[in-house]
Amino acid sequence: MGLLDKQFDDGNIVITSVEGVLNWARLCSLWQMSFGLACCAIEMMAASASHNDIMRFGVLPRPSPRQCDVMIVAGTVTLKMATRVKRLYEQMAEPRYVVSMGSCSNCGGPYWEHGYHVLKGVDRVVPVDVYIPGCPPRPEALLEGWMRLQEKVRDFTLVKEKGAPVGEKA
Ligand code: SF4
Repeated sequence: MGLLDKQFDDGNIVITSVEGVLNWARLCSLWQMSFGLACCAIEMMAASASHNDIMRFGVLPRPSPRQCDVMIVAGTVTLKMATRVKRLYEQMAEPRYVVSMGSCSNCGGPYWEHGYHVLKGVDRVVPVDVYIPGCPPRPEALLEGWMRLQEKVRDFTLVKEKGAPVGEKA
């Protein structure tokens, strides 16, 4: 890189990989699927309001799973709703991500022991990339989780390294 750096030193030129540019573009415009399941969804909506304004990260709520990159599961996932969550996830284009927001979605929350109708963790039906703890987590916690997700997108690669699945570095 030393030779190239000197060659383009005065030219306002940045040298990077195509994958780096694509990942940067994607992490700055992750579109969110807009649905909420219970009280955590109120905090999720508050993250879009003026005080936190999650849209400054390029987040755009979309009503169609086919246009979305991220599903935020915010609230209690009942067994009846779990099949719908899975169906929506399968309708999303790849690469796709899931953020589990709140104790209910993470592990069943207050329904963990006696809630016979509640799924004990949404990761039983869809793969989760980021877990946000709390009952409910505040909007700031969602912003923190979003930044963790952006780090994951920044490291995304289609180059398969030895021993690692596609999309993850070894
Ligand atoms: S984690 Fe708490 S705030 Fe969130 S949906 Fe469950 S009960 Fe409601």
